[in-house]
Amino acid sequence: MASFYTGAEGCPYPNPNASVQLRNGSGGGLVLLQDTQLIETLAHFNRERIPERVVHAKAAGAYGEFECTHDCTDITSASFLSKVGKKSDVLVRISTVGPERGSADTTRDVHGWGMKIYTDEGNQDFVCNNIPVFFVRDPIKFPSMNRSHKRHPQTNLSDSDMVFAITSFHLGNPEGIHALMHLFNDRGTPASLRNINAYSGHTYKFTKEDGSFKYIKLHIKAQTGVKNFTADVAAKTAGENPDFHTQDLFEAIEQGNFPTWDVFVQVMDPKEAETYRWNIFDMTKVWPHKDYPLRQIGRLTLNRNPQNYFTDIEQAAFSPSNMVPGIAPSADPMLQARMFAYPDAARYRLGVNYQQLPTNRSKAPVYSPFQRDGFMNFSANYGADPNYVGSSLKPTPVKAGGKVSSTITEHEKWVGEVSSFTSEVGPEDFEQATALWRVLGGQEGHQERFVGNVAGHLAKAKSAMIRSRVYEYFSQVDKDLGRRLREVTEAKVAAAA
Ligand code: NDP
Repeated sequence: MASFYTGAEGCPYPNPNASVQLRNGSGGGLVLLQDTQLIETLAHFNRERIPERVVHAKAAGAYGEFECTHDCTDITSASFLSKVGKKSDVLVRISTVGPERGSADTTRDVHGWGMKIYTDEGNQDFVCNNIPVFFVRDPIKFPSMNRSHKRHPQTNLSDSDMVFAITSFHLGNPEGIHALMHLFNDRGTPASLRNINAYSGHTYKFTKEDGSFKYIKLHIKAQTGVKNFTADVAAKTAGENPDFHTQDLFEAIEQGNFPTWDVFVQVMDPKEAETYRWNIFDMTKVWPHKDYPLRQIGRLTLNRNPQNYFTDIEQAAFSPSNMVPGIAPSADPMLQARMFAYPDAARYRLGVNYQQLPTNRSKAPVYSPFQRDGFMNFSANYGADPNYVGSSLKPTPVKAGGKVSSTITEHEKWVGEVSSFTSEVGPEDFEQATALWRVLGGQEGHQERFVGNVAGHLAKAKSAMIRSRVYEYFSQVDKDLGRRLREVTEAKVAAAA
């Protein structure tokens, strides 16, 4: 580093804190076009912001390590899981989903969990949430679902005026009931990012080199347990310190109080998938633990704060399409769509060469000469190597015994008809929501807080007809829930009148 200030191309600046001016006797000054220092300072400031993520904009993150803790070689050939004790570097970014970059951490929301494992066979990304299910199972509904949780196009308000949109979206797409049961229970307002769990939600495949595979779901569980705020404490904290979670995570790591999670999979044989009572590619459903118990594969520790938030966390790009050999996608339509949408979003937000940015760069060697040039390419760009595949001058390197990329799988044969997918909703879509309502029943005061959380939101909806439809909707989960919700909400409406 130079011991004095310079311009961006190294030329020394005598005084970076004063513009060059043509001055008259009375103290006025005209700035000069030749003052490159002033022009560059202003021009760069104007361009400091990159587009914020359309979802998952507000986040905290840190680096750490993933350690394989249990032998998994019977289910996957992934190198980072090949040996007990093997460690790989990791980056984790934990976010809210709907609100903007400057929003409060403790707003009620699903929390996203982007995780990049820098393995010796390339980057393995998992994009998880702190709830194990999602609101829709058809990816074409994703933008509408998110917009219904964001700002109103006329008022630009995100609170009470949007209640109608949120409510009307979910009434019109009732498959989201299970996810709503997660969002409105205490886990919708975590006390700390160190005390949340993360779930893949999607079904993935663990594959082996012999061509066999298993379906899996990933569970990442906080060693110190899940801890939540009540709605009141979350709201108060949002006012007092909107960056509460960010600060908590940073300070804990700074003090050496490293957060740790145990990492598990549920494992299903493909034969069982054909006859299992739930569609395993439906992201609104879990696999009940009693059917598919958790099996530990690893441990995750976050132990290093970012040196620079922008370069380490804001420029980070995660995608479920980043899969190492031994892990493969399943036929979950939401997963398939996200495998397109995430890199597409990164190309828009960061540019076509975003994988070259330090925080995204693979620690395993990269040889991808069919991806070159483009804006902001700051690699050696493969020098004189052929820019087409199949050259006799420099044949494509094939590592003897090398594993093929997992996204190219030959496990399944598909025969079917091309048709529009209508996501019909039946009683089975409410069963797991009911199971969760019962889980809440086993935790003191939790059902009551759940009812209060939904009622606090719903009481802002001005239409009695809409409120009534919501009571019926939740009655399908449990009649008593519907009744209690009506009682508490209408009391709030009456009190506010
Ligand atoms: P079990 O009856 O075996 O166990 C209940 C599970 O509920 C716990 O393992 C815990 O998951 C989770 N849980 C506890 N408190 C809450 C809460 N406040 N909000 C959300 N989840 C909570 O579970 P089943 O597998 O039979 O599923 C019953 C219901 O539990 C499901 O319908 C689902 O809504 C929920 N659940 C199930 C998960 C699964 O993958 N099977 C994962 C998470 C929730 P954890 O240990 O992960 O904290």
